[in-house]
Amino acid sequence: MFSEKGLSREDILKKLCEVKKDDLDWKSGKAFGYIFDPGEEILGFAKEINNMFLSENALDFTVYPSLLSLENDLVSIMGKHLGGNDDVVGNFTSGGTESIILAVKTARDYYRNKKPEITEPEMILPTTAHAAFHKAAHYLGIKTVSVSVDPETFKADVPAMEKAINSNTIFMAGSAPSYTQGVIDPISELSRTAEENDVWFHTDACMGGFLLPFFKELGKKIDMFDFSCPGVNSISVDLHKYAYTPKGASLILHRNSAQRRFQLFAFADWLGYTMINPTIQSTKSGGPLAAAWAVLNHVGKEKYLEFARIQLETVEKIKQGIESIPELHMMARPEMTLISFGSDKVNIFHIIDEMNLKGWYIQPSLSFDNIPATIHLSVTLSNAGREDEFICDLEQSVEKAKKLLPGKLLSMFNLVMDQGGAEDLSENLSPIFELAGIKDGRMPQRMAPVNEVLDAMPAGFRKELLLEVANTFFSSQS
Ligand SMILES: *Cc1c(COP(=O)(O)O)cnc(C)c1O
Repeated sequence: MFSEKGLSREDILKKLCEVKKDDLDWKSGKAFGYIFDPGEEILGFAKEINNMFLSENALDFTVYPSLLSLENDLVSIMGKHLGGNDDVVGNFTSGGTESIILAVKTARDYYRNKKPEITEPEMILPTTAHAAFHKAAHYLGIKTVSVSVDPETFKADVPAMEKAINSNTIFMAGSAPSYTQGVIDPISELSRTAEENDVWFHTDACMGGFLLPFFKELGKKIDMFDFSCPGVNSISVDLHKYAYTPKGASLILHRNSAQRRFQLFAFADWLGYTMINPTIQSTKSGGPLAAAWAVLNHVGKEKYLEFARIQLETVEKIKQGIESIPELHMMARPEMTLISFGSDKVNIFHIIDEMNLKGWYIQPSLSFDNIPATIHLSVTLSNAGREDEFICDLEQSVEKAKKLLPGKLLSMFNLVMDQGGAEDLSENLSPIFELAGIKDGRMPQRMAPVNEVLDAMPAGFRKELLLEVANTFFSSQS
């Protein structure tokens, strides 16, 4: 729809409220993902500051010295927060993914200069590393080598990672903590190994970079993961997660500016303005940067420490609750605020659907590399105070899920596969997905049948199928 004469504000608002009706209700406090809600006062202030800088354009730091100074201040604050000295430099980005792509790009260009003989660069990642690294590799023409993690602790296996290093290796990464299982990799050993082999080491602290230092201050034992490990070259840290700033706020930090130099892009050979971009975006609103700076300083260290304490307690209560349900077990020992649990006895996809019907949003992680499918929770401030209700509903959902039969859809899928349907997957599966209720860009309310099928597929098929489905979702038909 593109209105001919322009609609009234009331009509636009009405329309938008209508399209929003099926969205995740993040104000309910029942979502364990996607949303980091600091509450009305802080969010209201963030919106005000975002609006104050909405029209300013961070494309050109010479025209907006305000934005340059706010960016440098955020980098300096977070550099020190993460064990760095005055040499640490960095940039404000749109999110963890952009920070990670920039880290990989910087390393690629650093080694292009240092070791021009490497023409087919490789990066080594634990299987828990965020998909954003694979996206970076996909965009930047780098081969990825995935190394299984320890199946008990879900931490990167240092000797196995070391063994994967060859003469083409330019980059290695670890997480603090990993998204799904919420554990911190042995960054100290990993980064030492990388350094000894002249390989770039990146700590992905998108989740933990802001919060872990506060956990440490609360007396929790946190393994070293930041610039205090001499082999760490760069760190990604999101502010739009546990710093509770509006979305579009992350930092890429480098140990020094000689290194960061390889991140920048400049271009003068055209008929336009000389372009100098430290990040991927060119024209970008000053809003998210100013709002991030404002929220950080408005909340302040003391209150963030209080937030950390509340979140720690919430995680502990939820963890104990899960452990009290005999059909469920924790996958890993949570080191921050991320919880992963599973079941050998009940289909977790049905548990998720049942929870969904009770208004909770919890996320499945499909099976991979001999690890079965699990349920992930990102615990945030807005979940505090709802622990008992959550566990009570979880218990009931487990009971209900026990009584649900295994999916008909899965048997159909297996039949198709047995008949050699893997040859042309997208064609053979579309009737199955129609049956599952995926239609017109909408997913069915009960996702278990779909998840069961996805989970039964090899990861390569899963990817192809999701590409097909997404390609139809983003179209004028939906
Ligand atoms: C969220 C996250 C990312 C990706 O960040 P986006 O802001 O979603 O782009 C990368 N790594 C980890 C560990 C994360 O939790």
